[in-house]
Amino acid sequence: MEYETIAARSLLSKPKYGDSWFHINRSLNPYRGCEFACAYCDGRSEYYHVDNFQTHIRIKENAPEIMRKELEKEGYTSRSKLETETLWSFLDDEDAKRLALMTPRRQVIGVCGGVSDGYQQAEKEHKITRRNLEVLYDFGMPVFVLTKSNLVLRDLDILQQINERAFANVTFTITHHDPKVKHVFEPKSSTTEERFEALKEVRKRGLFGGVMATPILPGIGNTDENMRALAKEAKRVGAQYILFAGMTLKPGRQKEHFLTVVKKNFPDQYEYIREIYAKNDKYGHADYRKIPFRSMIRGYKICKEVGISPRTIRHNLPFEHEINTKVLGGLLDIVFYQRYLLGLPWSKSKPFQEVAIRIEKGVENLKELHEHDALRGRLLLDDTTQPIVEQIMDRDSCDHLVWVEDKIKELIERLNL
Ligand code: SF4
Repeated sequence: MEYETIAARSLLSKPKYGDSWFHINRSLNPYRGCEFACAYCDGRSEYYHVDNFQTHIRIKENAPEIMRKELEKEGYTSRSKLETETLWSFLDDEDAKRLALMTPRRQVIGVCGGVSDGYQQAEKEHKITRRNLEVLYDFGMPVFVLTKSNLVLRDLDILQQINERAFANVTFTITHHDPKVKHVFEPKSSTTEERFEALKEVRKRGLFGGVMATPILPGIGNTDENMRALAKEAKRVGAQYILFAGMTLKPGRQKEHFLTVVKKNFPDQYEYIREIYAKNDKYGHADYRKIPFRSMIRGYKICKEVGISPRTIRHNLPFEHEINTKVLGGLLDIVFYQRYLLGLPWSKSKPFQEVAIRIEKGVENLKELHEHDALRGRLLLDDTTQPIVEQIMDRDSCDHLVWVEDKIKELIERLNL
C-alpha cells in the first residue's frame, strides 16, 4: 500500500440544491483512492482519474485549512473568530449575534465523499475527517456522514457537538447480511456486524442514524432474504431509515473489475449481470428492461412490512422555519418516489423540484407568506403545485403523495414481489 501526502487546491464541491437522496448541498473527499477496495466501487472508474485506486492513497493533509478558507471566502464567519473579535463581547443584542451566525445560510455538508471513505485506514493516523468536522462545527454547518467503517465512533464527541449546534446524520452503507458475500465485495471495511453495532451506538448517543443499503447487487444481493435481514437488523439497532438502491456500473475499469470478481465467486450470475450492463451506459445504469424489478421497489415493500422508513428525512437547518423544512421534505419525497420508484419521466417531477429548490435557497416563513396571500407569487406556484404546498403545510402529506404511494403499491402487486 502506498500512502502519499498531497496538497489540495480546493475541497468543497459547488453548492447544489434539491438533492432528493440525502438532502446534502456540498460534498468533499478527504482522500483520493480508497483502501476499502469494494469490488463495485464507482471511484475506480476512469471518470474520476484516480489511478491505482485501492493501492495508492493520496492524503489531503491541508483539507481542513483549505475548507476554512473556502468558507470564509463565501462569507461565512466561524464562531471562534466571532468570539475573539472585541466587537462580539459588546454585542448585547441577541439578534445581531443570531444574524452573524445565520448568514449566509448554512449548507449540509457530506463529509465522507462519494469516491473515498473518510474513515478508511489512513484516517486512523491522519485524522483529516476529524479535523474537517472540527472546522464544520466551528462554522455551524450540519453534516451528513456516510461510511462503511466503525472508526466513526472515535468522532462521536464532535458529531454530538455538531448535532447540538446544527445536526449530524450518521449513515452506514450496509449491503450484505451474509458475512461471506460481504467479504467478497467489500473485503476491507468493517464487517456488517460491526457496522450495525456502531449504528446502535450512534443511536444510543442521540444522533440521527440510518442505513444506506446500496448497491444492492442484481442476482446476488437483491433477494428477499438478504434485503429483509438488513431491514430487520437496521430496525433492531434503532436505525431511523434504510434506503435500498441498485448499482451503477460504468464501462471501463469499474465494470471490468466487478465482472472479474463476479466470474470468480458467483459464476452462475456472471452472464446475467454482464447482459444487463451490456449497453455500456456512460453513467453505468443497468438496462431496466432486462431486470425483473428494481431493488428499490422490493426495498420499499420490505420497509413497510418491517416497520422502518425507506427514506431519510429532511432535517431542519439552523435558523430555518420548520414549516419550510416540512414542505421542502414533502416535495422532495414526491420527486424521489416518482423518479426512482415509479420511473416516471423527469418532466413529471421537475415542477416539484423547482419549488423545492426555491425554498431551500431561502425564503420567508411560508405560513406568513400564505397569510399574506404571497405564497403563489413568491414560490412561483401554479395550479398543480399550489394545492400540494398548501396541503403539506396543513398536514404532513398531500393527496398527490398518497396517489404516488398507491401507485407504488399497485406496482408491487403487479410485480408479485
Ligand atoms: S468504501 Fe466507498 S469509496 Fe471506498 S472502496 Fe468502498 S465504495 Fe469505494
